[in-house]
Amino acid sequence: MKKQYIIPIFVPHLGCPNDCIFCNQKSISGEKTNMTKDKAKKIIDEHLQSINNEDAKIEIAFFGGSFTAIDENIQNELLETAYEYVKNGKVESIRISTRPDAINKNILKRLKKYKVKTIELGVQSANDYILQRSNRGHSFEDVKKASKLIRWYGFKLGHQMMVGLPESTRIDEINTAKALIKLKPKMVRIYPVLVVKNTKLEKEYEEGKYEPLPLVQAVEICKELVRMFYDKHIDIIRVGLQNTDEISSPENDLSEVVAGPYHPAFRQLVESSMWYDAIVGKIKKLNVKVKEVEVTVNPVDSNSVIGHKKENVKKLKDIYDVDLILKQDKNVKQGKSKIKITKTYHDFLEDEEYKKDKKKEKSKI
Ligand code: SF4
Repeated sequence: MKKQYIIPIFVPHLGCPNDCIFCNQKSISGEKTNMTKDKAKKIIDEHLQSINNEDAKIEIAFFGGSFTAIDENIQNELLETAYEYVKNGKVESIRISTRPDAINKNILKRLKKYKVKTIELGVQSANDYILQRSNRGHSFEDVKKASKLIRWYGFKLGHQMMVGLPESTRIDEINTAKALIKLKPKMVRIYPVLVVKNTKLEKEYEEGKYEPLPLVQAVEICKELVRMFYDKHIDIIRVGLQNTDEISSPENDLSEVVAGPYHPAFRQLVESSMWYDAIVGKIKKLNVKVKEVEVTVNPVDSNSVIGHKKENVKKLKDIYDVDLILKQDKNVKQGKSKIKITKTYHDFLEDEEYKKDKKKEKSKI
């Protein structure tokens, strides 16, 4: 299978008509100046030089602000620049991210002209009150209309949702995932809300009006959402914001994050927790006391099975007195596992008895 590479081009706040409560787009994208076609070309060339895989599947992605809400001339310049690489075969496709209310038939026809393949919509919530509370400036009806149009025009549809927006509850997040599933996206991104400097949310946080989700709770909710999307075979392309100098631990001097469930390996926490549940679920179904369990997974999943800083290994030992043995097998499908109980408590006691007997025999000799 071809390896996929994404060349990210961050288009900051440029012309975004909104001021969402959580957004300081310049911090999130790590890009403080406006994007031009020359800068875009330089970024693309630099990335292409570092990708030495002839078989690579390369995509140019305009992330950051609301691409289709920026000045049309700038959009066209950037798209033309990217399209040149598609035409000369160096890049396979183009992706953009934008707001649901910045999509209409004419915009989509224009994007088609430049062979844009994927459109990601910032949805954030399916609850209109929460959207309003976060000053999103669009409704969920806009999301529905835009999603249908995007699919109708033959683009790949992506959705981005947030977890922990002001006044949003676990049930709201689950309802958002359910509503998105109905709109049939090909992929989703899940972002737990972080309080970023120079945002309205920072002010609310300082005034005690907003309490961010604790890390553990954010992981628990994301776990439920990930399961829901996996069950429907929807690709989850990101869980948690990408680490950059600006999006890093609040203790870091350069960090723009003030508070919230930040973790450098947030997705791994979510996936490890899911593996832990799967292993414990399997153990609990058996009518015996398990002492040792062997889990065989694809090498890609091994870190998640063990857990961040071996958390799953330690938890299984501390809570259930079970030893976890990890085996890797490339033939096991990613995300799947073979779980085998290799020792029950009964076997363990027999082993211990055997060792004792052996000791006794030795001492007699
Ligand atoms: S629409 Fe996007 S870019 Fe604009 S303020 Fe909201 S989150 Fe930021």
